[in-house]
Amino acid sequence: MAVLGNPKNTIQVIQKYNFDFQKRFGQNFLIDEHVIEKIMKAADLTEEDCILEIGPGIGTMTQYLAEVVREVIAVEIDKNLIPILKDTLSGYSNIIIRNEDKLMTGELFEINEDILKVDINTLVNEHNQGKPIKVVANLPYYITTPIIMGLFEKHVPLESMIVMVQKEVAERMQVGPGTKDYGALSLAVQYYAEPEIVANVPQNCFIPRPNVGSAVIKLTRHKQPPVKTKDEAALFQIIRASFNQRRKTLINSLRNASDLSYEKEEIEMALKQMELPLTIRGEALNLEQFARLTDILVKEK
Ligand code: SAM
Repeated sequence: MAVLGNPKNTIQVIQKYNFDFQKRFGQNFLIDEHVIEKIMKAADLTEEDCILEIGPGIGTMTQYLAEVVREVIAVEIDKNLIPILKDTLSGYSNIIIRNEDKLMTGELFEINEDILKVDINTLVNEHNQGKPIKVVANLPYYITTPIIMGLFEKHVPLESMIVMVQKEVAERMQVGPGTKDYGALSLAVQYYAEPEIVANVPQNCFIPRPNVGSAVIKLTRHKQPPVKTKDEAALFQIIRASFNQRRKTLINSLRNASDLSYEKEEIEMALKQMELPLTIRGEALNLEQFARLTDILVKEK
């Protein structure tokens, strides 16, 4: 039975262990059952699922997950949370715990590590025979982008991610051209997945209260990217360069990028071929146009 996820029980656990919140680890614990239920519903879990939870905290969502799925792998960086997790999760046998290098299945164990250093592909092979996992997490906001992009770029077998992120970041992931939030993150996320904001979450749903609003976003991995390109790495270089200097024209942004070496004339020719004005800014192009531009420029090389 899940017992956490409300203010009273969370405060009790924190006091019992005299736990000190670490700002540097982005620790804001969820204390609202309705929000957790929305996350669980959006995650659309089955008893076959293997879940990667990043940053379980005191195990609030971990309990809910362990009730319905086959296995939960929880990766937590803060050593001070490990004894707490061992307590709050003691009733579950489907939460895999690896304490440093020791691997023990069928017992409670915790991966006490930095998620950015974990070899997640190996984890998926070991725990889900390489089949796609689901990620469910209330993320530490200071590393939201590296976590999400790392999972995509390392081609971790992944069905979906249901993650709590800063509200502005969720909006950036979801928008298209013509909005101020549109940028390299929108394009990168949309290349790999279909984003859908499933809930906005106010500050009072956490202890301690974060300084920013939050949102739960579901990223459903595309089976195939929605656009084809000859050179994925070049596509992302061009996208990044185009948004580095938002107020500049696309031609100037690409010319100024230190990791690109396209001549002005080449870029002009490409834009003409695409029937786009030479004064266009990167923020006006959609993913398909960036892929087309990349293919023209790569061909020119
Ligand atoms: N899941 C809990 C909840 O919803 O109440 C806690 C969420 S809190 C926003 C983020 C969690 O991520 C914290 O427990 C924090 O210690 C952990 N964390 C921070 N950086 C991490 C990292 N690099 N690797 C793994 N966990 C990390």
